[in-house]
Amino acid sequence: MSATKPSTAKVKGKQSKLYSDYEKPYPRNVQGVYRKYKWLTLIVLLAIYYLSPFLRWDRGPGAPDQAILIDMPARRAYFFFIEIWPQEIYYLTGLLIIAAIVLFAATSLFGRVWCGFACFQTVWTDLFIWVESLVEGDRTHRIQLDKGPWSGRKFGIKLFKHFLFLIVSFLTGGAWVLYFNDATTVIFEIFEGTAGSGTYLFLFLFTATTYIMAGWAREQACIYMCPYARFQGAMLDDESLIITYESWRGEPRGHTKPGQMNFEGRGHCVDCKACVQACPTGIDIREGSQLACINCGLCADACNEVMDRFKLPRGLIAYDSIANQKYRAKGEKPQVHLLRPRTLIYIAVLVIVSAIMVFSLGTRDRLKLNVIHERAPLYSRMSDGGIRNGYTLKILNMVRVPREITFIVDGVKVSKTSIIGRENEGDNPILPVKPDQVGDYRVFLSVAREDAPKGSVPITITIHDRLTGETAKASDVFAAPE
Ligand code: SF4
Ligand code: SF4
Repeated sequence: MSATKPSTAKVKGKQSKLYSDYEKPYPRNVQGVYRKYKWLTLIVLLAIYYLSPFLRWDRGPGAPDQAILIDMPARRAYFFFIEIWPQEIYYLTGLLIIAAIVLFAATSLFGRVWCGFACFQTVWTDLFIWVESLVEGDRTHRIQLDKGPWSGRKFGIKLFKHFLFLIVSFLTGGAWVLYFNDATTVIFEIFEGTAGSGTYLFLFLFTATTYIMAGWAREQACIYMCPYARFQGAMLDDESLIITYESWRGEPRGHTKPGQMNFEGRGHCVDCKACVQACPTGIDIREGSQLACINCGLCADACNEVMDRFKLPRGLIAYDSIANQKYRAKGEKPQVHLLRPRTLIYIAVLVIVSAIMVFSLGTRDRLKLNVIHERAPLYSRMSDGGIRNGYTLKILNMVRVPREITFIVDGVKVSKTSIIGRENEGDNPILPVKPDQVGDYRVFLSVAREDAPKGSVPITITIHDRLTGETAKASDVFAAPE
């Protein structure tokens, strides 16, 4: 696979450039089934992106009612009925692993469908090209405009186009910050100038990123910046469905005018280059599978239009597997093998990881304990010879009801327990923890001289919710002199 056409040929005694100059693609508008799927995907994905922050989900009094929210100040992430604490960030890792496996499985089955239809770079580039063709016209007009000299008209058209680009970019960046704030509030704050500086910073960053990536970088991001493009070939095999050119039918190619319908002794490709002109990455699929091909299918749509004009069978460029192309070339019946060892492995891994995630989410503890041992001093010797250690208990109440917590210590024989602020409650104090909060308690454990261990010994602190019976444990040490 190659993205560019390197050349080391000598031209009149001089070494030519190693790589060809950048040729900006001017994709022309096409009609067809893949174009329709692309519009449909674009509309659905943009609708999800722009409207999701406005979905509401009732979590009870005091809790945000935004269905999807990453609340950085409160350190919570909400996804409908799921609430994730910072301590549970590994669920995000699990989600990313699942997303990666889905991507691998989809690629092995259907080639780069993600790249061609659903990747945000593709979606926004498509949107920007649509805006560009509305303002500047289709391919020929855009080429003429770019090649023509600068004039007031050209300047006005370019200015208007980039103004529209910036509006789309601003809406994109604006929608992004809605996921990190209450959408219905921050949207007014942004325009009133009362939103936080972080909101304005990210609004600017995402506006600028969208403008640069979809307005300027476009296919360069797919060809040179995207790491996925580099290794997706490893997921493909001869049975994967990809955009292919039926060279056995198309070659030898040759120019033909509509009306000349005699294709005896030659291929069906009329060398019109409609497929190249439709390609958003500017490549010629007739040269074979290439790194720059994002499998968007627009060349297939363009070629089908041509085949219709010449009353030839459609599908000279088609979504097909390399294996099927070989069958078709030999006149044999094509076959689709979706279940293959590699796809079965991806599906099996996906099922296992998803099951682990669902089970883990469904059975996760909503009461947790973190213990931090005080370091200075590590221990204190009391006047009666006993040893005292200090700890901070962080009790995570991950539900929206208050808790009353008691605790016990295993590993040493505690003679006295004191909790800062609750000294009057004796050795079995009740530690209240507010709903959806972390209860922070400083605890001193004393061990009588005769029971004091030699050196550090492991201990376990177990907390117990008096009302629900839930428990949580944490391990630490009790330090004493050797
Ligand atoms: S070659 Fe065809 S499928 Fe590949 S990127 Fe270009 S138009 Fe899309
Ligand atoms: S659009 Fe079809 S006929 Fe025209 S050059 Fe491409 S493959 Fe050949």
